[in-house]
Amino acid sequence: SSSGPAPQAEALVDLDAVAHNVRLLCEHAGDAGVMAVVKADAYNHGAVAVGRAALAAGATELGVTTVDEAVALREAGITAPVVSWLHTADTDFRPAVAANVEIAVSSPRHLHAVVDAARSVGTTVAVSMKVDTGLNRNGVSAFELDALLDGLARAQAEGAIRFGGVFSHLAHADEPHNPVIDVQAEVLRDAVARAARLGLRADRVHLANSAATLTRPDLRFDMVRPGIALYGLSPVPELGGFGLRPAMTLRARIALVKKVPAGAGVSYGHTWIAPRDTTVALLPVGYADGVPRSLSGRFDVQIGSRRFPQIGRVCMDQVVVDLGPDPGSVAEGDTAILFGPGDDGGPVAQEWADALDTIHYEVVTGVRGRVARSYV
Ligand code: PLP
Repeated sequence: SSSGPAPQAEALVDLDAVAHNVRLLCEHAGDAGVMAVVKADAYNHGAVAVGRAALAAGATELGVTTVDEAVALREAGITAPVVSWLHTADTDFRPAVAANVEIAVSSPRHLHAVVDAARSVGTTVAVSMKVDTGLNRNGVSAFELDALLDGLARAQAEGAIRFGGVFSHLAHADEPHNPVIDVQAEVLRDAVARAARLGLRADRVHLANSAATLTRPDLRFDMVRPGIALYGLSPVPELGGFGLRPAMTLRARIALVKKVPAGAGVSYGHTWIAPRDTTVALLPVGYADGVPRSLSGRFDVQIGSRRFPQIGRVCMDQVVVDLGPDPGSVAEGDTAILFGPGDDGGPVAQEWADALDTIHYEVVTGVRGRVARSYV
């Protein structure tokens, strides 16, 4: 969708795929709302574009990590509810308060700072409570829950805040039968009940990330909060794809095609030696762009409908692909897919994750550098 010469390397984001995934998640959510998690620039897919597409397809609100991310969505004209949930002691909450962002607090200190910001802006602020139900990461701990609830009840009585809800995050969502999930749900229900006893009505209780949305319909509460599934990547790959469509395609244009004789070493360290006369293609993308060097020689690219192996070391700016003795019609300027939707057996982000002993979340968020993002 950009004009001018085609970029050397591109992360193409398919917003129709995002819309398809959102509709699928809405079906799983039933009567519950869907908060589309667009933190970290929508897992590197572009928060504004994905946020708009998700809302148009049926998501009811957007979730982000920082207040800056939330304010950026407002500045782009998005008016739907936006919740932000990770702050530090010195976060300036005033721009978020002024932009009508809902702020989730995890401690009485955070609440205090948010209420101060609301006073200084001269308005009320929507505040929800993030409860640590067992992940032991962000969220209010059992030790401070009562103090935070007291503070919230007081702030609500003073008219400083509108109470937005109670939520938590799961530690084992990708293991749908793990009993810790049920323990966490129970701790969440208890926090909601305690809030209610203080007059804090939690209209929006939410717990389920993508994995729980797709595998635990009993945990929908009032809203689900999927991230990775919006982008079409399965939150539980062992259980299949759930009908999701991967949204990001990483592709590069072939910079050079050349013959290499049998016995020649390719790329730094000559870790790959041509076993026969062959033809190689050079792709102008490397570890500075998010193709990890530790993936050297361990992935394929798709050119046309064929897969070809990447050979030798991944360099900062380039990788080499072996086209073999029969390169067919592959030519300079052709497009090679590094990972994408997997059409025609093409490579997918999960293959990189498997090879790298990581998760596809890290693969898509790792794309960077000179890779241009564009949308279809
Ligand atoms: N909720 C919170 C609080 C999160 O931090 C995240 C992301 O990790 C999500 C929901 C979405 O999780 P997932 O991408 O696994 O669906």
